[in-house]
Amino acid sequence: MTSNATIHSDLNPLDSMMKRFDEAAKILGLDDSIYNTLKYPAKAVTVHLPIMMDNGKVHVFEGHRVQHSTTLGPSKGGIRYSMDVSIDEVKALAAWMTWKCAVVGIPYGGGKGGIKCDPKSMSKGEVERLTRAYAASMSDVFGPDKDIPAPDMNTGQQEMAWIVDEYSKIKGQYTPAVCTGKPLTMGGSLGRVEATGRGVMVSTRSALAKLGLKPQECTCVVQGFGNVGSISAKLIEMLGIKIIGISDVTGGYYAPEGIKVEDAINYVKANGNLKGFAGKNITNSELLELECDILVPAAMEDQITDQNAGNIKAKLIVEGANGPTSASADAILNEKGIMVVPDILANAGGVTVSYFEWVQNRMGYFWTEERVNRRADRVMKQAFDVVYDASKKHNVAMRIAAYVVAMDKVATTQKFRGVF
Ligand code: NAD
Repeated sequence: MTSNATIHSDLNPLDSMMKRFDEAAKILGLDDSIYNTLKYPAKAVTVHLPIMMDNGKVHVFEGHRVQHSTTLGPSKGGIRYSMDVSIDEVKALAAWMTWKCAVVGIPYGGGKGGIKCDPKSMSKGEVERLTRAYAASMSDVFGPDKDIPAPDMNTGQQEMAWIVDEYSKIKGQYTPAVCTGKPLTMGGSLGRVEATGRGVMVSTRSALAKLGLKPQECTCVVQGFGNVGSISAKLIEMLGIKIIGISDVTGGYYAPEGIKVEDAINYVKANGNLKGFAGKNITNSELLELECDILVPAAMEDQITDQNAGNIKAKLIVEGANGPTSASADAILNEKGIMVVPDILANAGGVTVSYFEWVQNRMGYFWTEERVNRRADRVMKQAFDVVYDASKKHNVAMRIAAYVVAMDKVATTQKFRGVF
């Protein structure tokens, strides 16, 4: 990480989320019983996994799986491998998934998992044994109708393939629907790789229409050029919008005359990152404050804070990343009249197509990419409209409106289902 990319953070993203949760709870007038039910996870499982390392020694890893809510359906959420994994972080990320699934109206609750490990320092065999041990220990926690994991930080289709394989062996039947984000040959879905960026594009298009801005007259800056950033940039460019700034961990690249996104994608393919790419080299902090119409933070959390929110010039922010804006920045952005399409809405295209993957697995029938995209676009557009209407109804920003929509759905269902 370059030092210029790190911006002072007042709250961690999870505290930020709870602040929004509390604000939305007040608007909804949630009674204490529902509030407390939603504040805590329904189930949290911690396991200790002894793994034979390549050097012949046994190392014991700690893993977690949290089901925040199963009110709307089986819990859904990724598994991350990182030395920063802790049960508290996993609990908060699981809650985040509850709101994300609810806001786009897919029939899932929220879950998250993690193993405290540094996979980059482990051999492939060690990562495989760890993943299989985790899947085996969670075989009664996971299930297509119970809890459906997916990739997250430092996990991908290979880990999902091992989880399906291990789970299927234990259950005695091939069960690809136990997780999503699988390789295509094991029941993965076409369109999944592009899904999050596609949803960012659909959110951008919907927001511009509400703001009365013509795409052909707009400029856009994208922070982060990985899966979400590069695909968002490519698809936003296809709307006729000029991309004038992009960035990654190596810094920002600014070209007021416009950047050809395909060139940047090819550059990263050839060089591994954007270092040396055409355009004026600026810092990530400068990039966020560029004169532009649309800003898409698609790198990491806590990039827009009370320290720099006042300097942001974009009229629209579409959050590709999770938690890129701290809670203290919300009021500043609102005051400036900047529309923010919040993360739980803007980047929900990924979980939407994960849901389609699960649906296809259960049908044993696979859709064309065109069908996946068309249906995902519809879900994202409808969700945007519902949140926009809620923001008008309650006279609140889109972020709080998204929480209100999501929490209302879960709370209403919770009331019907009842408690002990
Ligand atoms: P990725 O690893 O593919 O890409 C991350 C990008 O951010 C890279 O270009 C990297 O160089 C850049 N980056 C890292 N640190 C940076 C810094 N300090 N300043 C500027 N750029 C920096 O990751 P991704 O899958 O694109 O995820 C990006 C964000 O989107 C994360 O917050 C993730 O949680 C969120 N998200 C991803 C998905 C998905 O489907 N991939 C879905 C929902 C949300």
